[in-house]
Amino acid sequence: MTAELFTTTITGAARIGPNRELKRATESYWAGRIDRIELDGVAAGLRRDAWTALSNAGLDSVPVNTFSYYDQILDTAELLGALPTRYAGIDDDLDRYFAAARGTSNLAPLEMTKWFDTNYHYLVPEISDEITFTLHPQKVLSELEEARAQRVPARPVIIGPITFLLLGKAVDGGVPPINRVDELTPLYVDLLGRLEDAGASWVQFDEPALCTDLSPEVLAAVSRVYKAIAADYSRPAIMVTSYFGDLREALPVLAKTSVEALGLDLVSADPDAIAAVPELRTKHVVAGVVDGRNIWRTDLDKALATLGTLLGSVGSLAVSTSCSTLHVPYSLDPEDELDDELRSRLAFAAEKVSEVVTLSRALRHGRDTVREEFAASAAVQASREADPRLRNNDIRARLSSVLSGGVTRGPAAERLVEQTRRLGLPALPTTTIGSYPQTSAIRVARAQRRSGEIDNAEYQRRMRSEIADVITLQEELGLDVLVHGEPERNDMVQYFAEQLDGFFATANGWVQSYGTRCVRPPILYGDVARPTPMTVDWITYAQSLTSKPVKGMLTGPVTILAWSFVRDDQPLADTANQIALAIRDETVDLQSAGVAIIQVDEPALRELLPLRSSDKPGYLQWAVRAFRLSTSGVADSTQIHTHLCYSEFGEVIGAIADLDADVTSIEAARSRMEVLEDLNGIGFSNSVGPGVYDIHSPRVPSTDEITESLRSALKAVPAQRLWVNPDCGLKTRGPIEVKESLRNLVAATAAVRADLG
Ligand code: GLN
Ligand code: ZN
Repeated sequence: MTAELFTTTITGAARIGPNRELKRATESYWAGRIDRIELDGVAAGLRRDAWTALSNAGLDSVPVNTFSYYDQILDTAELLGALPTRYAGIDDDLDRYFAAARGTSNLAPLEMTKWFDTNYHYLVPEISDEITFTLHPQKVLSELEEARAQRVPARPVIIGPITFLLLGKAVDGGVPPINRVDELTPLYVDLLGRLEDAGASWVQFDEPALCTDLSPEVLAAVSRVYKAIAADYSRPAIMVTSYFGDLREALPVLAKTSVEALGLDLVSADPDAIAAVPELRTKHVVAGVVDGRNIWRTDLDKALATLGTLLGSVGSLAVSTSCSTLHVPYSLDPEDELDDELRSRLAFAAEKVSEVVTLSRALRHGRDTVREEFAASAAVQASREADPRLRNNDIRARLSSVLSGGVTRGPAAERLVEQTRRLGLPALPTTTIGSYPQTSAIRVARAQRRSGEIDNAEYQRRMRSEIADVITLQEELGLDVLVHGEPERNDMVQYFAEQLDGFFATANGWVQSYGTRCVRPPILYGDVARPTPMTVDWITYAQSLTSKPVKGMLTGPVTILAWSFVRDDQPLADTANQIALAIRDETVDLQSAGVAIIQVDEPALRELLPLRSSDKPGYLQWAVRAFRLSTSGVADSTQIHTHLCYSEFGEVIGAIADLDADVTSIEAARSRMEVLEDLNGIGFSNSVGPGVYDIHSPRVPSTDEITESLRSALKAVPAQRLWVNPDCGLKTRGPIEVKESLRNLVAATAAVRADLG
């Protein structure tokens, strides 16, 4: 291939819009408030602005086709004719696409799961044996044409065949999708021909799955498929891009094919190991030295040194981000509340593009041509080290003294005896996971407080009235262990981040989580301290309204860590322990205020699991320790609950037992029995609340249905250890369905208690 080598690029970019314009337009389209033409217009405007900004900033190759109306894996399923046939009856292509993403009143959507170890969620392709792959390249071709018409040096980005199939799931016991990889080769060859005809000189295939542990069969497939795709025919030059880790054994395999370029994540990988691969001497290496998924400003000298290590060992070198900037906010510009010190240390997507450009100039024309940028970067690194907020010696001393005291509680069986005596609960206690429906009154109060229309006192009064309503409701329903409903929490992580030292909550730092849903992860920049109690007033207020126990409700250290941007100057384990200490202090204060049950949610325990098996045990060890640190400060008579949002425990099942919570509530979407048997299989003997109905659906479960599922749960777990609860929080549900569902839950429990006699 004779494509000109580019020097300066990024792996991919966000699409939701700097002010979430695409979210608003898409939701308006779903609600029927705007039509397809208007939606397409918003999307095209966002693409144009994004491309213009990137090429004006100095990129000489701009990724296109990273736009998506919902998700890039769903786009790939459409590209390859791999949408399940159940949607085929929907004529309009966009409505069919959204049906696969979100379901319709009678069609289930595709399953959604996390994109590697990020907080982005993709739609899982269902690859049934019935599917015959066929190419549908309209989307990528039209985006390429659009970009070329705007004179953008466009490089179409497409998910590669290995990653697509490894992320897909078989249905009805069909063959594992990856076994069908050779069927995709001709489609990718065909696609390359079409892109060549449309004027593309480079094409990027994203293969992040190559940074995970691969079997010899998959490695052989990588070699076979990329040799075929990169064979000698009239096609654009190919860049295979990997991210979220290092390629290890896949690197020489790819390097031995004829692909022209490799995109490598140099934030994760060791540059010396890469420089040692002889086949790279003929390759264009696109070095991702600017971190695409965290928000810290790059240490330019360090990044330039990494580039220097590669320089003599690879054919040619370009500078890029380690992954798409989809995972970070758009720009620092709207962050008015940021102090100068902290601002100087941050780089969101726009600032990262400038860093890539600076590094590329330094590489090609010498560091002196960008002297000022390098001086600023060095000054920032120095000021960061001197910032007192990064080291709170009191906290560090307390942490090591608490840790040296150990993080175990008394034996679980003895705790149970004490707690049973203290709480006096009936068999099969009924409870809920924490949140109740987010009413419009709650949203209005939050908005009015933000705009200054109401003051804090008025806001508190309104939240208290919400709490009072939720307590009344639970008493009427006859639940045994009550919750306050979490009306005061905008988000289960941000709520705590706003009250802890060491965190900064952004004003506009939105990042796509899935589809039109965006989150604003807080920035954890310094040592964590808890200036004052965070939840005690709310819980004690709720407790004052009832004689039944009200659970204190906290978010666990691993989840707070997972859903924040975290400091990169110390091990994650150390940061987790600091958060854990703050949560531990909160549990002790709750206990002193008379709270007898405290739930510490850890829905993200499994999400942070490293991609490589060799890294997993180390992670699980510190994650479990952090949870135990946060929950072992209370007396044995205080009951600790935890909540996990999944039932496919897989590699974390041992860790769940090691958490040693007194009560663990879990999702039980597969079947109560299976989940409980998995837990029995590893000798789990604490109490458990397998969700008795799915809160993700608006359907109200019948009393009979719940009765049946409780009876089946009792076959696996004795009544003394079984709790009754829905499978997650209720904040996304409507008040009427919640009331009916919980009424049936209580009635079913009464029926099963009667059998127990
Ligand atoms: N306590 C939280 C709630 O009920 C738990 C949320 C979650 O599991 N993600 O909303
Ligand atoms: Zn949950």
